[in-house]
Amino acid sequence: MSRIAYVNGRYVPLCQAVVNIEDRGYQFSDGVYEVCEVREGRLIDERRHLGRLAYSLKELRIAEPMAMSALGVVMREVVARNRVNWGIVYLQVTRGVARRDHAFPPAGTRPSLVITARSLELASAEHIAADGVAVITVPDNRWERVDIKSVSLLPNVLAKQVAREAGAREAWFVDKQGRVTEGSSSNAWIVTRDGKVVTHQVGHDILRGITRTVLVDVITAQGLTLEERAFTVEEAYAAREAFLTSASQIVLPVVRIDGRPIGNGAPGLIATALRRDFHRFAEMT
Ligand code: PMP
Repeated sequence: MSRIAYVNGRYVPLCQAVVNIEDRGYQFSDGVYEVCEVREGRLIDERRHLGRLAYSLKELRIAEPMAMSALGVVMREVVARNRVNWGIVYLQVTRGVARRDHAFPPAGTRPSLVITARSLELASAEHIAADGVAVITVPDNRWERVDIKSVSLLPNVLAKQVAREAGAREAWFVDKQGRVTEGSSSNAWIVTRDGKVVTHQVGHDILRGITRTVLVDVITAQGLTLEERAFTVEEAYAAREAFLTSASQIVLPVVRIDGRPIGNGAPGLIATALRRDFHRFAEMT
């Protein structure tokens, strides 16, 4: 079955899905995106993802390509046409097509909208979670507004490649004070020796992950103590557990950081319980 993409009002086979070379996403990374988990053919936390999309668009002064409720309809249609049971739906909005000029295009230029969906291998994802993953640390060399989910991801791309070449799944960004901000495509968490769950506070220096937001509810419901604050790399090395979160990976135990085993070197009890309970707290529509 060939995959189908939505491109500016049309559903087209992926191999014919193209954008104009003067699209500002292509020319300037002038756009934003969202990735939403699909489970049993339904969208996970659609409302929160569309809320964050509206925020990213507003911060960059890009117009909404259509009403948010209509966007949900198109996302669902793309999921259905691609027969995705478990996987992801990807949505990208750019400032549109215009003659190349750094300043904003003329008023009335229509934003571009692309939506795709694809299946993921549930069994292999569960395998990875059961084994736990390795992460490495890299300097955080991104701009100051990474709370905006911009398609401008060059530092993230380079960090992820360094991780892959080191045999790790993720790279954790470390700020100039030696504190972990987040991963190249996920939020970063530790569990301290005394059982506190710690993740960087929200602000302009991390992406406010939707998985992170929902997990705060799970943590509270499990009676765990949450600390939203920066933690250092040294603290992470000494942690009892570590894990990462993102829409496509849910909660993934981290068992090695920079080659050092975390805790006893196996997925932690808390990370495993949070992964198990996550979808009881997420919205499914
Ligand atoms: N931080 C970054 C830099 C990311 O790219 C992502 C994944 N989009 C996240 C955090 C996690 O966000 P979410 O839980 O919404 O997928």
